[in-house]
Amino acid sequence: MKSRSIYRANPDHATATAMAREERGHWVMAALYPSSTSAKTVARRVPLAEMMPAYEPAGAYEAYVAQHTDGTALWVRYVAGEEPVPVLPDRMSVRIRHDGDGPGYSGSGVITVTVSTRCPQCGGPRGFDTVIPHRFHHDGDWYVVDRWANRCGHVDMYDAVLAESRQVLLPLAPAPVPVPSPPADDSPAGLILTAAKGRRGMHAQQAARMLDVHGHDEDAARIRAELRSRNGHMSAKQAADYLHAWSPVAEGGAQ
Ligand SMILES: [Zn+2]
Repeated sequence: MKSRSIYRANPDHATATAMAREERGHWVMAALYPSSTSAKTVARRVPLAEMMPAYEPAGAYEAYVAQHTDGTALWVRYVAGEEPVPVLPDRMSVRIRHDGDGPGYSGSGVITVTVSTRCPQCGGPRGFDTVIPHRFHHDGDWYVVDRWANRCGHVDMYDAVLAESRQVLLPLAPAPVPVPSPPADDSPAGLILTAAKGRRGMHAQQAARMLDVHGHDEDAARIRAELRSRNGHMSAKQAADYLHAWSPVAEGGAQ
């Protein structure tokens, strides 16, 4: 079996997140824990980047935990960006060959079974999105079963899949709720208000800097001018209000 060295004292989240960023939307195994409790704790922190700077900013990563032959694996993926990433379903239904259980039964058959979308060996996503029909010939009849490829490289054998489908499918631990999707209101004032919600005591100066980053140079300059006239006393929220007041007809054509 594999060496025990996989239990690293300090999981390398920096490397995991770098890999995840390279292939947005694809799941990467970030760490392996001897206990599912610690794995779940970390999985809850990942989407919030709570005490886990490698996963900043909050909302950039998703995580789930799954059984691994050597413990509990933490899988993460990078989701920040405009386009939605495909949802990983909990279950997949596939057609497999099943020649019957009873002794003396020689017929061939196909049954549809439902199994987890997590690889039983490493917990990585099974190739639920790679399922293709495969025709085979047996005793003068044609049958169709499904084939799929797991990204982790582990191969699912039909016998194991059948056995798995016959176990009670326990509900998976709920996936951590991803942090707030990008603000619907992407006006400069809306951006500031959204950012200020997550940053207690955000100052107008920080709001202006954020607008710089988003290319709203004029609005940033407007805030700075107002900030000077108020002798530096202006919160981010006041800056947003100021922009609203300054530009009441910003809707629609604003850019
Ligand atoms: Zn696997």
